[in-house]
This record gives sequence, structure tokens and C-alpha cells, in this order.
Amino acid sequence: MPSLPSHAHVVIVGGGIVGCSVAYHLAKRGCTDVLLLERRQLTCGTTWHAAGLVGQLRATHNLTRLAQYTTALYEGLERETGQATGFRQVGSVAVAASAARFEELKRGASMARVFGVEVQILSPHEARERWPLLAIDDLVGAVYLPKDGRTNPVDTTQALARGARAAGVRIVEGVKVTAIHQAAGRVSGVATAAGDVRADVVVNCAGMWGREVGALAGVSVPLHAAEHFYIVTEPIAGLPADLPILRDADARSYFKEDTGKLLVGWFEPRAKPWAEDGIPEDSAFEQLPPDLAHIEPLFADAMRRVPALEAAGVQVFFNGPESFTPDDRYLLGEAPELPGFYVAAGFNSIGIQSAGGAGKVLADWIVDGHPPFDLWDVDIRRCAPFQRNRRYLRDRTVESLGLLYAMHWPFRQPQTARGVRRSALHDRLAAAGACFGEVAGFERANWFAAPGTEARYEYSYGRQNWFELSAAEHRAVRESVGLFDQSSFSKFVLKGRDAAAVLGRISANEVDVAVGRIVYTQWLNARGGIEADLTVTREAEDSYLIVGACATQTRDFNYLCRAIPAGAAAVAFDVSSAYAVLGLMGPDSRALLAQLTDADLSSSAFPFGSSRIIDLGYARVRASRITYVGELGYELYIPAEFAPGVYDALVAAGAACGLRLAGYHALNSLRIEKGYRHWGHDISDEDTPLEAGLGFAVAWDKPHGFLGREALLRQRETGVRRRLAAFALESSVPLLYHNEPIWRDGVLVGKVTSGMFGHTIGAALGLGCVARPGDEPITSEWIGSGRYEIEVAAERVPARVSLRPFYDPSGERVKR
Ligand SMILES: Cc1cc2nc3c(=O)[nH]c(=O)nc-3n(C[C@H](O)[C@H](O)[C@H](O)COP(=O)(O)OP(=O)(O)OC[C@H]3O[C@@H](n4cnc5c(N)ncnc54)[C@H](O)[C@@H]3O)c2cc1C
Repeated sequence: MPSLPSHAHVVIVGGGIVGCSVAYHLAKRGCTDVLLLERRQLTCGTTWHAAGLVGQLRATHNLTRLAQYTTALYEGLERETGQATGFRQVGSVAVAASAARFEELKRGASMARVFGVEVQILSPHEARERWPLLAIDDLVGAVYLPKDGRTNPVDTTQALARGARAAGVRIVEGVKVTAIHQAAGRVSGVATAAGDVRADVVVNCAGMWGREVGALAGVSVPLHAAEHFYIVTEPIAGLPADLPILRDADARSYFKEDTGKLLVGWFEPRAKPWAEDGIPEDSAFEQLPPDLAHIEPLFADAMRRVPALEAAGVQVFFNGPESFTPDDRYLLGEAPELPGFYVAAGFNSIGIQSAGGAGKVLADWIVDGHPPFDLWDVDIRRCAPFQRNRRYLRDRTVESLGLLYAMHWPFRQPQTARGVRRSALHDRLAAAGACFGEVAGFERANWFAAPGTEARYEYSYGRQNWFELSAAEHRAVRESVGLFDQSSFSKFVLKGRDAAAVLGRISANEVDVAVGRIVYTQWLNARGGIEADLTVTREAEDSYLIVGACATQTRDFNYLCRAIPAGAAAVAFDVSSAYAVLGLMGPDSRALLAQLTDADLSSSAFPFGSSRIIDLGYARVRASRITYVGELGYELYIPAEFAPGVYDALVAAGAACGLRLAGYHALNSLRIEKGYRHWGHDISDEDTPLEAGLGFAVAWDKPHGFLGREALLRQRETGVRRRLAAFALESSVPLLYHNEPIWRDGVLVGKVTSGMFGHTIGAALGLGCVARPGDEPITSEWIGSGRYEIEVAAERVPARVSLRPFYDPSGERVKR
């Protein structure tokens, strides 16, 4: 047994490319008291058999930044460490065999432009010039990314390990971590057969073992292994060296030239989950039996694209396991369940191209105590605790492998492992024609089908089959009254003598208000960034109801719990499952509600921003006069078992006034018309309220201040460089989703953060963040004075801008 130190500041579990990258980057940050433990040999998990594709363009800006960083790192790693990596910047060509796929590629190309990734749109013939063996008869177009590349995963891992060792990191092979120790509410070390090691930080880089290593610490790491296939041909005569990587997502195939041979791999739509009962103890350099029947149809598609494959012999049929997560994004960051325990796992077949960036930002996160920028897409706090459920993971993994090459349709919903979390009203909504979408396992009505028609998405980049139905729901809310099931909201209670002080410290707005008041507030970090966006209702002197989004339930609750100082008389409960929420919204909502309650609903007795417990039907519910759609309306918080009764009463009474059930797509179009922000799209932990246009929700001078105030004050003095604004396209044909580039006077100044068609305004709308080039602070004059265009699928469309909401800018309708 190797001898281990009794203490290391950081222990990394797992010596794949990700663990070695974390070690390398910790050392770069000067953190060298690091011990990396690998149960067998470096790279013996999934890293050794990866195809080694290194692409740059990812779904979001920050993930693209990480992939770009990875490319730059690999490019110089050999020079720095003396260890060859095999990295070659050969570029990549992605081809489209349908108009929809070409639109997807062109939208991706537009996005690449915002992210600073070099990209060219090619005709089929131009694509063949770059890839001579390509069959192009059925191709519509292609894109070329010259800076993409390929690397040798084993050598690259060894280079990272060498760089880490040279800086003082200890890497020990043949030692398995068998337990994670905890003390005083945080991680305190690991156990191994070679003895215990005390540690301040433990990092789970255990790849497909990550779920089991997480379980040792009571931490949920939702990932599951699946079989993943490629073949390598015999040498192909005339195959040019250093061909770009070729991707044909319609054929679910990728192609890599490899010393005169072709490596061809697949992302098939129905994958084969592997090792449902846990990864075998002795698994190392695992090679699974080839499944020729499984890959035969994939092979046929690949041969159609590259006919030279027909004559080429196959040298290697490879099948190796890789881990996949329920949403196809990796898991990064400090686990909410255990301070000091970090995770970097579940890389969904892009671990080689992600490892450089992921290792860097995780090292920054560990050293600085916070992520260097918004990493919400991959933040482990997006996961719901149920997601470690094995059956759920197995069933979802069938689908998640193929998602990488599937059409990334707007509003696309998963098809597997559905129906996990349902509101108390689910069956009623289903009977009324609801088409459900899923967020963190929660089934939510997105739109309602017309009677006698099927509630099923027909996807496209244009107006989908639900467009007009959702428009009618939207109009009902604006003109009469609509009913939303918003039960998926996360709801917490903070209770105790010190509740007001605890909440006041993390809330930028004043929450020490009269009982019955509702406060819209952000929780900030010390840098002034928005950690959470919520409403807070003072239920009693010593009790608050805190309401946030479904997707941020784990994150927000964790933030709240960690904000309670030791010894404070305040306890937080997650009461999300206890209450259903109905949003009754629209100018007729008061009249409808009045039919079912004796409570005085007049604006003087029950003004905007107040909350009361009222009789409603046979129930007692909390009615809160707030809105996310910009109309008079009430959010009704109903103990779950009373919800069906209240719903039935509302629907029966609403028949006479045209009450219409409405879904989340209508909610989204309504809120974008009103300019209401959405955390995770429009705002994040790297945006401040001043940049987000939320300065009105900051109580600068409240008696005890708040976390982030000093940073905000500094920003108020110097002025902000970027600002969120509302945009409307002048043409009503293209639709906005997110990440579309924004041009001002011919200069790229920002991107759309969320988009939807606004049915009242009659235009495709977006919220978007724009930055003023140079050092001058951004001003409303500068924003208002430019000529704007938004780029959709490589075409620029004129747009108008506004810092105020397009709909009801003075907010009169809300306060009626
Ligand atoms: C066929 C195939 C092709 C691929 N092609 C590509 C590609 O072209 N581009 C790309 O970017 N990605 C690709 N990937 C994905 C890539 O290989 C993985 O995402 C990446 O290797 C994950 O690295 P990792 O360090 O997280 O995991 P691993 O390499 O599996 O490392 C985890 C390590 O943890 C160790 N470990 C586990 N438990 C313990 C414990 N208790 N104590 C100590 N050590 C422990 C394991 O032994 C293992 O070595 C491919 C994957 C497959 C299967």
C-alpha cells in the first residue's frame, strides 16, 4: 500500500482527465497541498477510450467560454509540460440534410459569433472541398469551425498530471476512497485502505462512479452509465491526413481521421444504459461486448454520408461506458448537501473537450469560494434530490445520450421518465387538454389543446402547432381572466425570532415590513450578483413565506439555510410540496374571486403587494395580490388536499365570465411583454440589480444594510457597462428564443437572453443584455439612440429597443 499523508487541503477522488485537470488548475492557482487518489490507474475509467473530439461551440456563452479555454489550454500543454498530447487544430465541418437542421446550424453560427467563435457557413460543395469523401446529394448546407480540434485523451491527461506534479500535487494510484468523513457540518476527509486522510475540501471526479462516491457523502450525483459505440476502419487509401472532424447529426454520426483510418462514432436516439446495479468493482479499461445489431442501422447511415466506408474493413468495434445526466449537462460545483464537498462528473460524452475549462472554473470556485462567472447550466444545485433515483436515471439515460445530436428544437421536451412530480390538479388539467412540459421532474401545463385534438408538440423553428392556442390564452389574461397552475413554485418558510434579521441580511429590498405585505427582492452575493429572485411575504412577525422558481428550489433553499448564522433563532422549512398554487390573472379576476369569498377584495382593503388568508369555496387559502403577467391578479396558495375543490369552484364560477386555462408558454409571452426578468435566463449571479434594471428593488438605506451593498454602491458611483433592455423585431416572421446576437449601428453589442412572441404587442420580443464598447458607462441615451438589428439564423432583422416594458410601462393595470 502506498503511504498517504495524514492531511491534505484538497483530496481529489478520481484520476481521469477531469480529476487531473482540477489538480493542474488548483496548482496554477497556488493551491498545491493537493492529493489525487485514483483507485487503479490514471485514465482507466472512461478517459482512455474517448474519441478525442474537441469542439468549441456549446449551448450557452459561458459553456462556450470553457470549451474555448480548453482548446487554448491543450494547444499549449505540450510546450509547457514536455508531454506530447496529440492535440491538432484540424477544424470541424457539421453538415445539414434538412432545412430545419440547416436553420439549427445557422442559428448556432449566429450564436458562435456572439461568443467570439470563428465560424463559416458553407454550401454543400464547399463542405466537400473541405471533406472530399463526403456525399452531398441530399445536403442543404454546412458550417465550418476552423478552431475545433482533436486530441489524444490519455496523453492529454498525462500532460495535465505532469503539470500538476511539477507544481507539487501528489498523485497516488491504486488507492480507492471508501468513505467520506464529515465533522461540524462539513466534509473533513476520506477513508482508504491505506489509511484516513483529513481534508478541508474533497472533490468527486469519479466519472461514472460519481453517483456512488456522492452517496458515500450523502450527496446526490444524478448520473448513469450508458454504452457508447464507435468503430475504427482499416486504412483507407487516399484518405487525406488532418481532415476536419465531420459531424452529421441527421445520421447521428461523427467521423475523425486517425492515421489514415476513419474513426466513426454515434449518438443513437435509443441508448443502452449500463450497470444499473452499480459499476462493477473491478472495472478498469473496460471494454464492453460489441453489439453489432445495435450499430448496424447507424453504420448504414454513416455509409450513406461517407460511401468510402462501404469498401473499408473494420479494425475495431469499440463499445465503452460513459456517464450521462438527466438533462445532458455535466454536474459541477459545491454540493448543496455538504459544504466542502465538490463535484465534477457526468460529462455526457464531452468530458475531454470540457475538462480544461471545467477544471479551471472548479479550481477557481474552490480557491475563491464562489464560481468565477455564471455556471448555472452545469451547477449541481440545479438537480432535485429525487434525481438520484436509479430507475429514473436508467430510463432517462435511454434518451439523454442521443440528445447531443438530436434536433435542439425550441421547447423540446424529454420523452422518457416523465410524470415524476405532478401537481394536485394534474389529472384535471390533463382532462382539460393540457400539454405538459417538464422542469426538474415537475409536469407543468405549457398550453391547452383545442377540444378533440391531441395535446402533442409539433416542433419547428417557426410558429409551432400551439402558437394560436397560446395566443388565445394570452389574450384571455389581458382581456378577461386566465387560470394558471403554478404549483411547481418552490416555497420556503423562515420562522423564528431572528427571521426578519436573517432575511434582511441577504435581501436587497426591505423585508422588515408589516405583516401581510409582499416584497419582491433579490438575494445578492458579496459582489452584488443576483443569487436568487423571489417574493417574500411576511406571514407573521416571526414568519416569512418565500416563493421562487421551480428550477431553483435546491439552490435557493440551500442559499437560505447557509445564510442562517449559528445560534440565530430562525429555522427554514421547504414547504413546496405542501401547497398548490393557482394564479388567477386578468382584469376580471377580482369579480370572479368575489363570487367565492366574503373577503373585501377592493383595492383599498386589499391593495397590490398585500397578502391575506381568505375563505375560498370551502377552503382557507392565502391570496396574494401579485403578478408575473402584468395584470390585476391573485396568486392563491392552497394546502394541497384542498386544491381540487378550490379549482373546481373557480372553474365552475369562471364559466360565466370566460375563464380560460392558461399554460406556461402564455405566462412567458405575458411576462416578456411586461419586461419581468427570469433568473437563469435574463439574470444570474454575475449580473447586479443595476445591470438588470432592478434598482427599484434595492433598499439602499435600510438600517442594517445587506450583503452586496458595498459592491453595488461602488457600481452606482462608477456606472454600469451593460444593461438589460427589451427588444421587438420589426418583422413578425422570425421568432426569438435566446442567444441571438444584437447589433447596434452595425456593431455587435450583446445577445437576447429570453424571447417569445408577444401577442398583445404583435411582435417577436426579447429581453437582451447590451454592453457599450469601450470604457464609458452605458446610459439610457446611448441605448435609445442606436439603430438595432437582431441576427436570426445569420440574417439581421431590424428591431426597436426600450428600457421600459413594451406593455403597460407605468404599471397601471396591475394596481387597479
Ligand atoms: C466511446 C466514447 C467516446 C468518447 N469520445 C469523446 C470525445 O470525442 N470528446 C469528448 O470530449 N469526450 C468523449 N468521451 C467522453 C469522455 O471520455 C468522458 O467524458 C471523460 O473521459 C470523463 O472523464 P472523467 O475524468 O470524468 O471520468 P473517468 O475517466 O472515468 O475518471 C474517473 C476516475 O475515477 C476513478 N475512481 C472512481 N471511484 C473512485 C474511488 N472511490 N476512489 C478513487 N478513484 C476512483 C476511476 O477509476 C476513474 O479512473 C467519449 C466517451 C466514450 C465512452
